[in-house]
Amino acid sequence: MLSELVLATRNRNKVKEIREILKGLKLNILTVDDFPGCPEVIEDGATFEENAVKKARAVSRFTGKAALSDDSGLEVDALNGEPGIHSARYAGEGCNYDDNNNKLLGLMKDIPEERSQARFICVAVLCRPDGELMTARGVCEGVLGKERRGSNGFGYDPVFIVPEYGKTFAELDSELKNRISHRARAFNNIKELLKL
Ligand code: IMP
Repeated sequence: MLSELVLATRNRNKVKEIREILKGLKLNILTVDDFPGCPEVIEDGATFEENAVKKARAVSRFTGKAALSDDSGLEVDALNGEPGIHSARYAGEGCNYDDNNNKLLGLMKDIPEERSQARFICVAVLCRPDGELMTARGVCEGVLGKERRGSNGFGYDPVFIVPEYGKTFAELDSELKNRISHRARAFNNIKELLKL
């Protein structure tokens, strides 16, 4: 039975959400910050799965412990699935969340509402110390708004509307986002696989 694991991400927002989703488990959750010198992983895979496997493997090898990674992003139908795996650096190297949202809102400006379908994808990979891998995918369907709304969350949350609630992820409280999000779905699947 797994008693501890290392989250293979440096994204503080993701760490906060994953801790919340996994809370209640009898599991000591460490992060890469607990392991100085843990290598930075270059995310050059062609899919979320490839990148998630790369991150989990690298952190498990370095720490000698089980590692759990998250590779995620937003797919927009009218943009042929972009930003997709390029979500973090959509507006270019060194960009921030605001730059990415500006780029996205600019590209979607003249796209009619009925063609604004989008979805968040999250792939979670657990790599055990012996190298065995476990993969789970979570999807959350929605539509893109024409402007930012709300101040919770991070990344594309202010422009991603969840139709059932008529609100953006940034307008939902974190407890609700962490029940219905792509990340919640992927990590709950991992929980199931682990029978935790
Ligand atoms: P990664 O570190 O390559 O997985 O990059 C994920 C990127 O996708 C983030 O930097 C965000 O821009 C975006 N993203 C992933 N999950 C979320 C979310 O829950 N809300 C908003 N943006 C997200």
